[in-house]
Amino acid sequence: MAQCSICGKQIGMLAANPCTACITEMNEKHEAELRKQKSLDEEIAQQEQRKQEQYSSQQEERKAEIEAILVTTENAPDLNITDRLGIVTAQAAFEINNFKDIVVGLMNPVKGRSSELEKQLDILKERALYGLKGKAYELKANSVVAVDIDISTVTIGQISMLMLVASGTAVVVE
Ligand SMILES: [Zn+2]
Repeated sequence: MAQCSICGKQIGMLAANPCTACITEMNEKHEAELRKQKSLDEEIAQQEQRKQEQYSSQQEERKAEIEAILVTTENAPDLNITDRLGIVTAQAAFEINNFKDIVVGLMNPVKGRSSELEKQLDILKERALYGLKGKAYELKANSVVAVDIDISTVTIGQISMLMLVASGTAVVVE
């Protein structure tokens, strides 16, 4: 007679070793292990998703707070400024592939061309002002006063860029 290598039970010479009871037990343990691992993985995935959701809602909150920052070109003598936090600047640029056409369009506004340029400038302005608000937000300001916008062109080799720089003073207004 042979013995099961695990439980030591007497088994026939030609029977499976370990015995079928031990094999079944081993398989069950293995499956339980897999189920445990799977539920752990699911829990981790859920936590990750919750974290992502929390993060994106925080990002949206932050974005809303940045958007709410007041921006004015005025020196705002009528505003009750309680704190001046310094000058902030932000820029936005876009590459101009057909620079000459745009400059010609700017000087001789043909309907289509100039409106395309205006559209691009509006986008740049929006981006630069949002950047300015972002910098002010980092300084814990709630307004940016005396905002100035400069537009310039930069050419580096074959690449021409239209660049818009916004600057202003980050302040706290009551
Ligand atoms: Zn056994």
